[in-house]
Amino acid sequence: MNVPFVDLKSQYRSIKNEMDAAIAEVIENTAFVGGKAVSRFEEAFSAYVGVPHCVGVANGTDAIEIALLALGIRPGDEVIVPANSFIATSEAVTTAGAKVVFADSDPRFYTIDVEDLRRKITPKTKAIIPVHLYGHPADMDPIMEIAREHNLIVIEDTSQAHGAFYKGNRVGTFGDAATFSFYPGKNLGAYGDGGGIVFKSPEAADFARTYAAHGSKVKYHHVMEGRNSRLDGIQGAVLGVKLPHLDSWNEARRRNAALYSELLAGTRGIVLPEIADYAVPVFHLYVIRVENREELQKKLAERGIATAIHYPISLPSLEAYAYLNHTHEDFPVANGQMTEILSLPMYPELTEEMIRYTVEALKEEVAATSPAAAL
Ligand SMILES: *Cc1c(COP(=O)(O)O)cnc(C)c1O
Repeated sequence: MNVPFVDLKSQYRSIKNEMDAAIAEVIENTAFVGGKAVSRFEEAFSAYVGVPHCVGVANGTDAIEIALLALGIRPGDEVIVPANSFIATSEAVTTAGAKVVFADSDPRFYTIDVEDLRRKITPKTKAIIPVHLYGHPADMDPIMEIAREHNLIVIEDTSQAHGAFYKGNRVGTFGDAATFSFYPGKNLGAYGDGGGIVFKSPEAADFARTYAAHGSKVKYHHVMEGRNSRLDGIQGAVLGVKLPHLDSWNEARRRNAALYSELLAGTRGIVLPEIADYAVPVFHLYVIRVENREELQKKLAERGIATAIHYPISLPSLEAYAYLNHTHEDFPVANGQMTEILSLPMYPELTEEMIRYTVEALKEEVAATSPAAAL
């Protein structure tokens, strides 16, 4: 059997007629950048998340950078981000002109560790970017409390958690802004690059929309220098077709995760993902921890099962951040986890047969390769 890591084709097949018609309409109207399909999606998405203003942009990285600028981040400001995330989170802080400060990971949920976050605050700290990593919400109540105490901006990086809930409210509704990537493999994915920002403040949303359109509201009347970061018409149409399916796709991901966890429960040598009391996650990824990860990956690949690592190197350990002069011991949790984490195939269309096959193979190979399993 073949179990790919993601499968975007089977999802396309399930909505093909509707999707083809929506894309054809954009082409017919030649509304290639912005246009009605984009504004319709922005409205639908802001209603879905439950935040009044949504601005479509070119990708999830621009979304973070533009949100930082719209909320008044300036050169020299410090912005705290988690040590375990995709580089986009920290990269956007730098491109916005601010200084990246990392905080360690929570040992159970992989999201930002609230105590370490508190320790990283200085008089220069201006913002926090919690990431709802793997589709599991960061612990927003204490984060918002810290933000209120120190008068900090909060931007939720929601690129892996479209539709997740924290204590009954959607993620993205807690911070001053929340950013989304619509990269094809995300829970809500376009057919190319795409991104979005939701804002509570109409002024911040207005700034972001203007800034992302070369600093103009009216064509050729530029009120400032901005940049070009827009959502394409075709991507707006694709996202508009997909959004009504998102909750049921997320439900299917949770069902698949529950089956993995049920079948893998009690297996020596495997640490399973946990779900916090406060969370309804959306399992962008299903991440386990194992020893001898590379050997295990190879064995699974030989049996047709694709796996991945998110992420093999913690952000502070990357060459890109050598200038911060961090040591391995500065982030003991993130750096301990990075050698053991392994992402199993996860998407709504994964079948029970594929999950059972993956679990059987995993149990056999872990028993053969893990020193812990041999005890
Ligand atoms: C995917 C992702 C981004 C960046 O999104 P792009 O659309 O690829 O620019 C940012 N943050 C996180 C956590 C992501 O997973």
